[in-house]
Amino acid sequence: MNIEILEKSLTKEPKFRLTQIKKALFQELIDNWDDAKTLPKSLREELKKSCPLEINAKILNDSIGTRKALITLSDNTKIEAVLLSHIDNRNTICVSSQVGCPMKCSFCATGSMGFIRNLNKYEIIEQVLFFARLLKEKNQKVTNIVYMGMGEPFLNYENVIESIKILNDNNAFNIGARKISISTCGVIEGIKKLSNENMQINLAISLHAPNNILRDKLMPINKKHRIEDILKAVDNYIEKTNRRVMFEYTMIKDTNDSLKNAQELSLLMAKKLYMLNIIKYNETGVFKSSSDKRIKDFMQILHDNTVKLTLRHSFGSDIDAACGQLATK
Ligand code: SAH
Repeated sequence: MNIEILEKSLTKEPKFRLTQIKKALFQELIDNWDDAKTLPKSLREELKKSCPLEINAKILNDSIGTRKALITLSDNTKIEAVLLSHIDNRNTICVSSQVGCPMKCSFCATGSMGFIRNLNKYEIIEQVLFFARLLKEKNQKVTNIVYMGMGEPFLNYENVIESIKILNDNNAFNIGARKISISTCGVIEGIKKLSNENMQINLAISLHAPNNILRDKLMPINKKHRIEDILKAVDNYIEKTNRRVMFEYTMIKDTNDSLKNAQELSLLMAKKLYMLNIIKYNETGVFKSSSDKRIKDFMQILHDNTVKLTLRHSFGSDIDAACGQLATK
């Protein structure tokens, strides 16, 4: 599929055509231009040639509640996207923002595949569209989006924001901003820009270490953006938006999971609009996950220090579709 071409093909058409097309593509979820009944036949024929609607994707793995898809893009590069279905009928799509990732976090499978290129806004949307079509067969809808797949969203800022506008658009997916979350490993320029967007989307920060010495070892970006500077940017974001910010902390055995680490983390996290999300580490090779007992004790210390926290239910770890397990092999 290559819908980027659409806008160019429509320059001669009246403006309402784009609205009709958005409705057909993103609401009726057509996968064949013949089904776009509101368009004149001649335009449908033209679009059939210039803008095919097939998505080149296959479901790699299926487990209860989780499906991972491998999507091949028009230049033959590959990305992964994941559907997480919850019992309350929420369907969250975890989308990739880049092919590969340049951040090289030592514990993350995507980092080890290197960086290939940024996705354009429609390649981000294509991932949602693929699952939206699939869910339609079961009379279900995409309800939430997390930018937590492959890549660092804030290194592809413009395309990510443009894709969110399509998700928000009530002529397109009509998904509310509050149902959309962006996660960053701490790209400060991105946090600053987002503070000024006036969008009600959710911000998440991948922290994973309570001090710079340890974070330097796990996440190379920490050499550029220190913890205290990231937190300063987050505090500014909160001041401007009055929105809660989520911090992600994945528990890696004998690495960032000591009880002293929990104390250090408490000092950083006990703030009004900070939320901490503890994630059980999904093993991808070198590192091991902390034991359940350690996670419990670690969380107890944070709780005793008044940190607001949750434990992330790690969907999809059995099919390599969980956090940090996305990498095209
Ligand atoms: N680059 C962005 C978006 C990726 S989101 C970011 O870093 O936030 C994916 C989340 O899963 C990040 O918090 C990432 O640090 C975390 N993660 C990576 N590998 C993981 C693993 N093996 N187990 C659990 N979480 C992991």
